[in-house]
Amino acid sequence: MCGIIGYIGNKGNCINTLVDGLSVLEYRGYDSAGIAYCDKEHIKIIKQSGSVSNLKKMIDYNIKSNIGIGHTRWATHGKANKTNSHPHKVGKFTIVHNGIVENYNELKRMLIDEGYIFISDTDTEVACALIDYLYKKKGNVLDSINEANTLMLGGYAMAIICDDYLDTLYALKNKCPLIIGVDKDEKYISSDAYAILDKTNKNIELNDGDYAMINLNKVKVFNSGIEKQVNIKKFKYKMDSIDKKGYEHYMLKEIHEQPEVFKKTVGPYVNTTIDRLLEKMPNFDKYEKIRIIACGSATHAALVGKQMIESYANIKTDVEIASEFRYSKPFLQKNELVIVISQSGETADTLEALKLAKQNGNDTLGIINAKGSSIAKEANLLLYTEAGKEIAVATTKAYSAQVAMLSLIALNISTKKGLISNQELVEILEDIKVLPVYMEELLDRKNEYLEIAKSLACHNDIFFIGRKVDYALCMEGSLKLKEISYLHSEAYAAGELKHGTISLIDKDTPVIGIVTDNNVALKTISNIEEVKSRGANVIYITNRCSEENDNFYDIKIRIPKVHNLLSPLLTVIPLQMIAYYIAKIRNCNIDKPKNLAKSVTVE
Ligand code: GLU
Repeated sequence: MCGIIGYIGNKGNCINTLVDGLSVLEYRGYDSAGIAYCDKEHIKIIKQSGSVSNLKKMIDYNIKSNIGIGHTRWATHGKANKTNSHPHKVGKFTIVHNGIVENYNELKRMLIDEGYIFISDTDTEVACALIDYLYKKKGNVLDSINEANTLMLGGYAMAIICDDYLDTLYALKNKCPLIIGVDKDEKYISSDAYAILDKTNKNIELNDGDYAMINLNKVKVFNSGIEKQVNIKKFKYKMDSIDKKGYEHYMLKEIHEQPEVFKKTVGPYVNTTIDRLLEKMPNFDKYEKIRIIACGSATHAALVGKQMIESYANIKTDVEIASEFRYSKPFLQKNELVIVISQSGETADTLEALKLAKQNGNDTLGIINAKGSSIAKEANLLLYTEAGKEIAVATTKAYSAQVAMLSLIALNISTKKGLISNQELVEILEDIKVLPVYMEELLDRKNEYLEIAKSLACHNDIFFIGRKVDYALCMEGSLKLKEISYLHSEAYAAGELKHGTISLIDKDTPVIGIVTDNNVALKTISNIEEVKSRGANVIYITNRCSEENDNFYDIKIRIPKVHNLLSPLLTVIPLQMIAYYIAKIRNCNIDKPKNLAKSVTVE
């Protein structure tokens, strides 16, 4: 998850470039930040626990340096303290690292026997010592990095400086993202394009197992001892605005961007006339089954998608958590499409699941937000969500863009198969047009959410119940709350509650009941009645106008009625807003919740 940046140039711009890059990369981890740079022929390291802002205070910006590396950490091995912060230096090598060296214990024992002493608990220091050890034996940096690569297990990206060659940066990539930015007099190493996009749009992509030697005037890339031809490509995208636009938090801004994101994501596929509807979508006709693989909120979007695809496209759709799928028997069928969903396009488990599906011979479709990311490059078919840069760790607009894209896939298949009438299609098109207005309307009801948040913020447990698509939304609502407010909550399939969990419902226990699917509405309402009978404080979220009996809830949030295919995009808004205001009342670090990072590039 960590963010890596490296710089070599002849203008003395190192310190500012590293710090600017780390500020952009901080979404990848904020346990610590550090830089190493060359000052008067010596490597200086400045590092500190906590966010990049802590590091910034320690830096002398007047120093002119031409080479350096920087790191923002999401700790995997060793506490989030200064000692474990990167960069690490052992012997002649200084390293920053993203990923996990899985066999670091074994390597560490070998290196201790060889006389190495370790001061941190990280796997990174072991990798650094390993390269130093191999260099002492071989006397050649590239050979040492190549051999270290064969000895280390796991996934890692590294930027490396050797004391003997202070005019050279080295890079190594294996299963974690890393690119080299190229300009005339300056070169960069970065975990993502965004950290260098304001410097250059030319880049060299590294493949797994590649390592590189980067000088001021040339970049050489190798794999297994053999030099490769270097292809310089151009980023086709621009840096999105990262301005908070007056909002107190990025999360609140991003929640409010959802109407625009919906228009941008759906717009290019939905033409006004029915005969040309969805003509830019790939053809999904040949698939008899769909498997959607994802992690976190993307899995919750997938679960919404499953309901949509099964209901409207009549295709059996299974959802799997990427980290489980990878180690289970896949049982993938021949005509099964594998869809992977990831905001960052770098989610390590999702990427590996995608590779497994490809190896199995299945067609793969990526639903990705970050342009040019690893998954975007790897998938056979690609649909970009147009959420723009999402900065808050807890996803909101990217989640709803994923749901929007899945609704288009369901609609596409259903239309092609003739499973939907023209009249229903017209209704859906009308609702697509009006949906952003309804979203705005829901976003404007701040006071309603704030009042609910005030009543919930002091509780220890909150339950979310719903059936089918509403259950999938419950999972997302519950996750949002846990992520940012640290308040425990559980999402339950409404019918399942009485098989155990109802024992946790007591007087005033908050229960958020979601009912938007009329086919199961009365069943869910009965389940809500059951918790109400046991004293629960019920917040009822629904698109239903009225009930025969209103005694089963305490507070009702009425969401506008639209076609079922689009309804989840409205239902999620109150859930996001309530989670946001609860976290605000509880004084939490909303945009950077503890222990989390935005892009999960470790397994
Ligand atoms: N394993 C390294 C550490 O704990 C890097 C972690 C990461 O990339 O998330 O410092």
